[in-house]
Amino acid sequence: MTTQKTDQKKPAGKVYLIGAGPGDPGLITLRGKYLLERAEVVVYDYLANKKLLNYVPKTAKFIYAGKKGGGLHAYTQEGINQLLVDHAKAGNIVVRLKGGDPFIFGRGGEEIEEIVAEGIDFEVVPGVTSATAAATYAGIPITHRDYTASVAFVTGHEDPTKKYSNIQWDKLATGAGTIVIYMGIKTLPLITKKLIDYGRSPDTPVAVVRWASTPQQRSVEGTLATITEVVQKADIKPPALVIVGEVVKLRKTIDWYEKRPLFDKRVVVTRTREQASELVAKLEEHGADCLEYSTIHIEPVSDYTPLDQAFADIKQYQWILFTSLNAVTYFFKRLYQSGLDSRSLAGPKIAAVGKATAEELLKYGLRADLIPQRFTGEGLAEALLESKVGAGSKILLPRALRASEVLPETLVDAGADVDVVPVYQNVPPQGRKEELRDQLIEGDIDLLTFTSSSTVTNFLSMVDAKDNDELQQLLNKVTIAAIGPITAKTVTESGLQVDIQPESYTINDMVNTIVDHYKNSPAKDKE
Ligand code: SAH
Repeated sequence: MTTQKTDQKKPAGKVYLIGAGPGDPGLITLRGKYLLERAEVVVYDYLANKKLLNYVPKTAKFIYAGKKGGGLHAYTQEGINQLLVDHAKAGNIVVRLKGGDPFIFGRGGEEIEEIVAEGIDFEVVPGVTSATAAATYAGIPITHRDYTASVAFVTGHEDPTKKYSNIQWDKLATGAGTIVIYMGIKTLPLITKKLIDYGRSPDTPVAVVRWASTPQQRSVEGTLATITEVVQKADIKPPALVIVGEVVKLRKTIDWYEKRPLFDKRVVVTRTREQASELVAKLEEHGADCLEYSTIHIEPVSDYTPLDQAFADIKQYQWILFTSLNAVTYFFKRLYQSGLDSRSLAGPKIAAVGKATAEELLKYGLRADLIPQRFTGEGLAEALLESKVGAGSKILLPRALRASEVLPETLVDAGADVDVVPVYQNVPPQGRKEELRDQLIEGDIDLLTFTSSSTVTNFLSMVDAKDNDELQQLLNKVTIAAIGPITAKTVTESGLQVDIQPESYTINDMVNTIVDHYKNSPAKDKE
């Protein structure tokens, strides 16, 4: 028999140096994501997209090692090295997350040398470096058979006037077809002069790309002779990359990222946390910069007695109506907690307000008997009346504590007996109010998306305008999209105007209608 020692030390940890990619969080590697999900300590940089931190368990220790406000470093390089060593020695899985690729101008080598010297186990995961991302996202193939067969990555951080440079500008000027310069904005006048002085044509095309692969991406074009002035005029600041070479000409044909219809558009997505991702993903695909405000927080109700009673006597109902995904989720949560399962629902017919709700029901083994053509409470009421629901029908409606009364009222008017049973509630979340108000005051928001009446009311309570005048003022340059007529009605009743409304009430159609709106009248909303 063995006895377990209670004071056993954690086994030695390991350091994972991971490339976060250039900015777009979708450009991290699968290996990188896998390791983030297992991190116990994460040390991250200014250039690593903060959204990637969502993969890290909430219980992990998060350490920001980038620049503080004002450009000062939060930690020195030695300080960072020490952090990694200390946390690994304490037995932790330490993730060091760096922008782009950690071994390309990222001082990753120095950090790993220290780890090796301390005898700590490590792994390095490469990342998409900003040079290739910036070129690609600016529509520039970094090599091309017709233009160049070589590419050089260079740092512009080094002062090119210093006597003994590590970079042989004389050889580089004509030695590499494409030259990509990292950290070269400050020294751009000197770098371009060197390249010209050492024989590269002043007419060589140059592109400068800032914040590549993010919604803030901005690129400008010129030649070796003109680019310094172009950059100054456009006020391009770091982080930006300079791409020199004939391949830049291809941008005219290939440029795509900044051409997407919603590029440059800041969109507020007001949905529940659980449901935001589909809308956000679709908007982002068209180039939108999405700000997610979960204006609704879904919580269970405090009293499930009415639902328990309905479960106990489920056979009395002819219909059970599901009007949202949340209703399905919370209904089944309680059903399972009660020791029951879908078999106990045999008997009543089942209706779902729309396709998504019906698909959710299938996950629990139930096929909806009825889905209306119009995915609204009214549409469902009409479809039920057509199916001979009326006098004498007994109906169960599990739904939100506060919701539109159109559906139950229409059915009751037709003589049905409807049990409205609350299974969840929408509560406005705390926090982030100030941030939202600031963005509206600054005019940083182009579009608001509302996908239900409660997103509208909760958004308005977050904005917290003191009167209608202030509300109008805050939102007068903002375009408003509502998913369907009931949501739109809530918008107009609050004194605002709906600019975009899809014909069918789906996320897909809503996004397509938004895209069409901006394609047809790109400047209309900012007059
Ligand atoms: N290891 C990183 C580079 C770090 S050096 C990589 O592989 O990309 C920092 C410099 O990288 C910045 O000054 C800028 O020149 C460049 N850079 C990093 N991210 C960038 C981005 N999203 N857009 C443009 N340049 C970027």
